[in-house]
Amino acid sequence: MKSSALSGVVGKSLLIPVLTMIAGGAAGAILVTSFMANTDEAAAIPTMSTAQTQETAAAENAEIATAAPTETEEATAEVPEKEAEVAVAAYVAPAAQNLNELTKTVSVSKGDTLMKVLTRAGADRAESHEAITALNEIFDPRSLKIGQDVTLYFGVDETRENDTAPPSLIRVSLNEDVDRQLAAVRTPGEGFTAQETLLELDRKMVRAGGVIQSSLFLSAAQAGIPTKTIVDLIRIFSYDVDFQREIQPGDSFEVYFERFADESGTILKEGSIHWASMTLSGKEFSVYRFKTDDDGFTDYYDEKGRSVKKTLMRTPIDGARLTSGFGKRKHPTLGYTKMHRGVDFGARSGTPIMAAGNGTVEFAARNGGYGNYVRIRHNSEFKTAYAHMRKFAKGIRKGARVKQGQIIGYVGTTGRSTGPHLHYEVHRNSKQINPLSVKLPAGRKLGGKMLAAFNAYTGQVRQEVASIELETQLASVK
Ligand SMILES: [Zn+2]
Repeated sequence: MKSSALSGVVGKSLLIPVLTMIAGGAAGAILVTSFMANTDEAAAIPTMSTAQTQETAAAENAEIATAAPTETEEATAEVPEKEAEVAVAAYVAPAAQNLNELTKTVSVSKGDTLMKVLTRAGADRAESHEAITALNEIFDPRSLKIGQDVTLYFGVDETRENDTAPPSLIRVSLNEDVDRQLAAVRTPGEGFTAQETLLELDRKMVRAGGVIQSSLFLSAAQAGIPTKTIVDLIRIFSYDVDFQREIQPGDSFEVYFERFADESGTILKEGSIHWASMTLSGKEFSVYRFKTDDDGFTDYYDEKGRSVKKTLMRTPIDGARLTSGFGKRKHPTLGYTKMHRGVDFGARSGTPIMAAGNGTVEFAARNGGYGNYVRIRHNSEFKTAYAHMRKFAKGIRKGARVKQGQIIGYVGTTGRSTGPHLHYEVHRNSKQINPLSVKLPAGRKLGGKMLAAFNAYTGQVRQEVASIELETQLASVK
């Protein structure tokens, strides 16, 4: 028995909390430490397979069967830090001069499994298996990454009978993310339990932007905006902006987003974009990140409270009836079967036709059997086309920008047509698809109380944005 006077006072459960503190201190401030401890809780995790649960239970039972009885006092919280560190020393193997000799950090190499990593670091195979089993409750072994560090802590259980045995594995930890540390921790007499430690990072809002020289991606990257944020920015605007064709030199962008730093101010990761704006050919589009409390969804909305995820209108005409669907049909007079690559809406000549979504007109002219024909490019994926128009609406010509619902022309019977109707097509990746069955992302338009809440929120965001300086060159991260 190697117990000192101190260890007798604090009890052996001290070792693990102190080590947790040291490990956490190295990475940043610990705010939340949640324990996912016992088998019952583990069994309640829906993603776990039954096999894993049973294995965990077996592992724990095995540990309980061989472990010495635990002391009951919980003096941990009462012990001041300095004394606690001394107490750690009282628990180490006799040969160890300092804590470093009892911790080992190993990097994951190609082809490694957690078992390989632990045994390479000198951990006992059976103990490693127990630790891994516990860790698997909160860690997907497939997410182990090359170069990831795994830290092992070794200690001596004082109640053991053989003093010359090597120290036991008491903790295995790895960082799954910059602010999420996972560990398997051995509690004397209880075996390994999974432990998740979330680091509280400081949030800093950043307002950055610039003028687009050749592409948004390049200009944003040159401004030091992190790739994740640029990708988010492009995704948010992709419903409204065709990034391959619409960006002109001199267009500009701004983005207001979260960054997270540790205590020392080192930026560890990027968070969400709260607001972003693009000015294209002098016209500004702003989007706000907003959570709708009624359904709990967070999405991006334009100034008017319309989700940026706009759906294309399936019926771009008012008061019309579907006269012919999409697909094979028998020609009414010639008798042969022909593929109909759009849908026909019967309507009186002169009925207004609307743009099914925001986009750019890429064709507005006479087009053979289609007669007067308009094609709108909405984004890199979708286009819509409108045929047999009597005439085009004012300003509808190649290159014009149109908004969803804007009138682009009027029903007619130009081209190969038997009577006034709109022939409407949706092209996805340049192939005609059925406008009535295409799955388009759902859009939402805020109204009532939700719109009022949104308007209050956007006012607040605009104030926030205006109160901080626009950075045109961010310091690089990592
Ligand atoms: Zn048709």
